[in-house]
Amino acid sequence: MNAPEPVAPSAPAEPHVMGTYGRLPIALSHGQGCRVWDTAGRRYLDGLGGIAVNTLGHAHPRLVPALQDQVAKLIHCSNYYHVPLQEQLAAKLCALSGLENAFFCSTGLEANEAAIKIARKFGHDKGFDRPEIVVYEKAFHGRSLATLSATGNPKVQAGFGPLVEGFVRVPLNDLAALEEIARTRPQVTAVFLEVIQGEGGIHPATVDYLRAVRALCDRQDWLLMLDEVQCGIGRTGKWFAHQWAGIRPDVMPLAKGLGSGVPVGAVVCGPRAARVLGPGNHGTTFGGNPLAMRAGVETLRIMEEDGLLENAARVGAALREGLARRLAGQAGVVEIRGAGLMIGIELDRPCGELLGRAAEAGLLLSVTAERVIRLVPPLILNADEAAEIVDILCPLVEAFLAERSA
Ligand SMILES: *Cc1c(COP(=O)(O)O)cnc(C)c1O
Repeated sequence: MNAPEPVAPSAPAEPHVMGTYGRLPIALSHGQGCRVWDTAGRRYLDGLGGIAVNTLGHAHPRLVPALQDQVAKLIHCSNYYHVPLQEQLAAKLCALSGLENAFFCSTGLEANEAAIKIARKFGHDKGFDRPEIVVYEKAFHGRSLATLSATGNPKVQAGFGPLVEGFVRVPLNDLAALEEIARTRPQVTAVFLEVIQGEGGIHPATVDYLRAVRALCDRQDWLLMLDEVQCGIGRTGKWFAHQWAGIRPDVMPLAKGLGSGVPVGAVVCGPRAARVLGPGNHGTTFGGNPLAMRAGVETLRIMEEDGLLENAARVGAALREGLARRLAGQAGVVEIRGAGLMIGIELDRPCGELLGRAAEAGLLLSVTAERVIRLVPPLILNADEAAEIVDILCPLVEAFLAERSA
């Protein structure tokens, strides 16, 4: 008998937690920088950042005391009252984006839900009775019914019909398909896309496509709504990924990285969308609470003070080059793509099991769209840590591909 010993500890029994996730048999207990430890004392390098959430890594020495200070003062108070930190965070987001105002919520799907409502109301205000929103193949916008309906993944939609109507779908980077929509669908009010599709497998919209869509939206009086929930907040080396194309959206949902782990969502709007919703049109109990706003304000402040945009661009490029060099010519590696610290390695076969194997080797990452290894580490990742990711990951990929082609 030479069956391998199980390396991972057995999964803790959790009979009271609904089984909505396939989880690894690991429970994390604490972290420091880009390192985390599990309850068995094993250490990991964090290439996942809680799925593009832990912008400042773990236990950041300036974020922690700021949040402790806020917790001791006021966590929540409801939107019956003014929350001065909302204005502070909104003003900062507007300064960074060139947009005009922001609505705050707590998650990505909520930010997208608000965007969808803005697009619908924008249409109704024009006199449309059935406004439509253009969405994309392979898109991911969340798991509520409206955002699930906007999502372009039949697998996550299965079992939840009837879906919400009013979405028309096109392929990414196909301008002719969008122009066809302009000719044939008079009630379209908005185009809604991720600048870099995240869950769909790290597929970027090209700069040319983004500029052409911006121009088409201007011509058609459509809102350009860019879901920057995953690719925004410095991840690609600019504050927002669309800034690489030199354009501005009308509506920009944000969430994941904005609170560095504290749930913060926002929809930032330009002049054409900023006054579509008025009193009574939309709201949320937790959105914009003082703890969330403080997390957002401090996250952006620390990112600026520590030059994390520049870091994401530089270390991300080094990481991508390291991966490309080590995996060059490797049969089974289809493409390495992305920008900054949002990187996908597409293999020619499903590779979900690499999640567990990487964890056993001390590296946290994810696999998305079945065959794309996704790295979205904290933006504080340094060059040594990037090199370590390459050193751990590449042999695992090589071994995996060798096994399967044998
Ligand atoms: C994660 C994600 C969402 C959903 O965010 P939640 O906070 O999980 O609701 C929406 N859009 C994009 C692009 C995402 O990556």
